[in-house]
Amino acid sequence: MSNHYTIPIFIPELACHYKCIYCNQQKISGMMKIPSSDEIIQTFDKYLSTINYKNNDVEIGFFGGSFTGLSMEKQKELLLLTQPYVDKKKVQSIRLSTRPDYINEELLDLLLKYNVNTIELGAQSMDDEVLKFSGRGHVAEDVRRSAKLIKDFGFNLGLQMMIGLPLDTPQKAMATAKEIIDLGANNTRIYPTLVIKNTPLEDLYNKGIYQPLTMDETIMQVKELVKLFEAAEVNIIRIGLHPSEGLLSGDDLIAGPFHPSFKELVMTELWKDLLMHLFNNNNSDKNLFVFTSAKAYNFAVGYYGSNRKHLQKYYKTVSFKVDELLKGNEFYVDYY
Ligand code: SF4
Repeated sequence: MSNHYTIPIFIPELACHYKCIYCNQQKISGMMKIPSSDEIIQTFDKYLSTINYKNNDVEIGFFGGSFTGLSMEKQKELLLLTQPYVDKKKVQSIRLSTRPDYINEELLDLLLKYNVNTIELGAQSMDDEVLKFSGRGHVAEDVRRSAKLIKDFGFNLGLQMMIGLPLDTPQKAMATAKEIIDLGANNTRIYPTLVIKNTPLEDLYNKGIYQPLTMDETIMQVKELVKLFEAAEVNIIRIGLHPSEGLLSGDDLIAGPFHPSFKELVMTELWKDLLMHLFNNNNSDKNLFVFTSAKAYNFAVGYYGSNRKHLQKYYKTVSFKVDELLKGNEFYVDYY
């Protein structure tokens, strides 16, 4: 089975004109330097020296900013660097992220010409009130228009969403997820809103105007979103912010539902729901076996074994085992 690797190139947002209330512009300005061509090529070569690219699927990802907000010349310059790797089949695909209002036909023509396969948009919410209050500077219609154009051009579409923004509700988040599915997204990322230091959201939090979601609320909401996306076969690339040093140390984090193993907490709850029917008191003399896919094994057992511990209250013994024939969240049980 081949593995998938992404070579990440971080392109910071240069002089962003927007004021998303959760974003630390100061910090972004501190990283206001696009890596040089030499640095980018060195990164490609360094990653490829550790990857068996002949037998695996390798992509280059331009992350961090709004790629299509760069000048056409700069975009071409960056994409040109990738072409020798694509031509020599060392890299199979290119992905990039951008804003929904930075998409038009001319840009998409350029990206197509340079073998870009996937375009991710920061949709964040499909509710205009939420977008406006959050200072996103675009409306839901921009997401609809761009998503359609991206799909019409034949790209894979990624739509990222946030939950817990001011004026957001669980119902609005579900509606956003449903629309992301209806727009034909191939993949998504789900980010709970955090109050980061030196952001307008910090001021609102300090004034008592904004209250972040609790960890439990966040897990419950994200769990339902995951169920929805999985049922629609939308690939969930990421759940929760990447645990940067500033978040791990707490230096950047003022408040909000951050946990370095956030995805595990969500998947543990999701599996608790799946195993719920086994929580009954009539089996205390039985040995329970739960068979899962390799991918789901840890989630089924639960964060720090919490699902296993819960089942142990009802059975004489509890064992989780991998059945290689199972995929995703498929499972079956046996007991005697
Ligand atoms: S999150 Fe918003 S404010 Fe921050 S860089 Fe992106 S578009 Fe600009």
